[in-house]
Amino acid sequence: MTASSTNGHTATSEVSFFEQVNRMFDKAAAYLDHSPGLLAQIKHCNSVYRMEFPLKRDDGSIDVIKAFRAEHSHHKQPTKGGIRFAGNVNEDEVMALAALMTYKCAIVDVPFGGAKGGIQIDRRDYSEAEIERITRRYTFELHKKNFIGPGIDVPAPDYGTRPSDMAIILDTYISLTQTENPLDALACVTGKPVGQGGVRGRLEATGRGVYYGIREAVSSSDDMDRLGLSTGLEGKSVVVQGLGNVGYHAAKFLEDAGARLVGLAEYEGAIRNESGLSLDDVVSHRRETGSILDFPGASNIENSADALELECDILIPAALEGQIRRDNAGDIRAKIVGEAANGPVTADADAILNEKGALVIPDVYLNAGGVTVSYFEWLRNLSHVRHGRMNRRFEEHSARRILEAVETLSGQQFDQDALSKVISKVSFGAGEEDLVNSGLEDTMVSAYQEVRELTKRHNTDLRTAAFISALEKIAASYTQMGIFP
Ligand code: NAD
Repeated sequence: MTASSTNGHTATSEVSFFEQVNRMFDKAAAYLDHSPGLLAQIKHCNSVYRMEFPLKRDDGSIDVIKAFRAEHSHHKQPTKGGIRFAGNVNEDEVMALAALMTYKCAIVDVPFGGAKGGIQIDRRDYSEAEIERITRRYTFELHKKNFIGPGIDVPAPDYGTRPSDMAIILDTYISLTQTENPLDALACVTGKPVGQGGVRGRLEATGRGVYYGIREAVSSSDDMDRLGLSTGLEGKSVVVQGLGNVGYHAAKFLEDAGARLVGLAEYEGAIRNESGLSLDDVVSHRRETGSILDFPGASNIENSADALELECDILIPAALEGQIRRDNAGDIRAKIVGEAANGPVTADADAILNEKGALVIPDVYLNAGGVTVSYFEWLRNLSHVRHGRMNRRFEEHSARRILEAVETLSGQQFDQDALSKVISKVSFGAGEEDLVNSGLEDTMVSAYQEVRELTKRHNTDLRTAAFISALEKIAASYTQMGIFP
């Protein structure tokens, strides 16, 4: 029995996080006919680098920092996965998160193996200068052991890390590899600021992907009938736990689509209002007062975790793992649980939620928007050209020629202002961000339909179907390599 503790909030899990992921894997593997050797190869974590290094603090004292990088699967390279800064990061956790990355990439057809990194710090305890020294030393350690590089292992942001941290990783990597392959160095890390080789749309990509995934789920009349809900997002009541990168953006897109945010939770507490909370007003209030609590017109929930049990149509845990467990799963009243965080529902809790008839949209699919757009960023860095740069003007001319042909054939002259507007919509709109968002939407929609098909074929839940999809694709890569029969 392991206690997985998250940022000071102890979440007693039934078994370790990696074991939870492996149980989900085993459940899916039982539907397939692969050899035990192949399944074991897919399931095990290929390499883990555990490091400890000194940090000279601003006051001259020394802290020893513990950090990790796990590469779960080398069936595709590079491996890919975020770096998390959290006080309780441990080896088991990064292995679990790296495994989820492997399965996630396979589900959305992103050609990477899974990895994950973690530095055991709460960034609020360190100055920005100290964070920079830690990040540089961590990158140095990764490089020393060949755990970073555009074709080796490519980190990204995760819990507690930001685009500016990725810029520090890039800068360190470039300094370390001046004489190696500086041309492709930009692709050593994703989630960078746009001016540092980042791609437009990456910051909000995970939350946007969560929105697309939930939108797909609620568009199925069969599934909504079963839950006693209407189709569509309009008017659906939503509770979100964690207003960081993923939670904020997921809540924002859902709110913009007409959903009602009836509960919002942060680590200091939660608030509720049946008629709906304005996300940006809540965020401004939190910035001004330092707390989500006492938001005008809302009721306080002192114990933040109680927000998970609010009555709502959709519950979105977007903070950390182990939030819905055996001990509180029975009290969850949401009809749909959208796992925006990694591992927010333990394996035991998952069984309880399924038993209750809830629709659980699993993390391995739902938060794959981040890695999908990271893939677009990596491609941009390797091709050394902004997406859309080569064809944008060409598309504009094509649109103009088509409309001129219609003019000729119809014998009617279009109003020139209206024509320019149409052309600008058709082609000028296709800048990098539009291309990224449309690639993300297509990925999330296609993957959802693929996974849903598998639920029907195997008469199982979405998580098991998502794992089946991943296992089939990874198994195919191994057999195509000729290693396994
Ligand atoms: P973040 O650091 O930007 O935000 C996390 C938020 O959760 C913070 O505001 C924090 O205060 C809050 N929080 C922490 N503990 C809480 C608690 N007990 N109750 C309520 N709120 C709490 O992190 P993020 O990047 O948004 O990541 C969140 C989750 O999403 C993690 O599980 C991460 O692995 C996963 N994820 C992130 C990405 C990404 O692109 N950033 C991609 C895929 C998955």
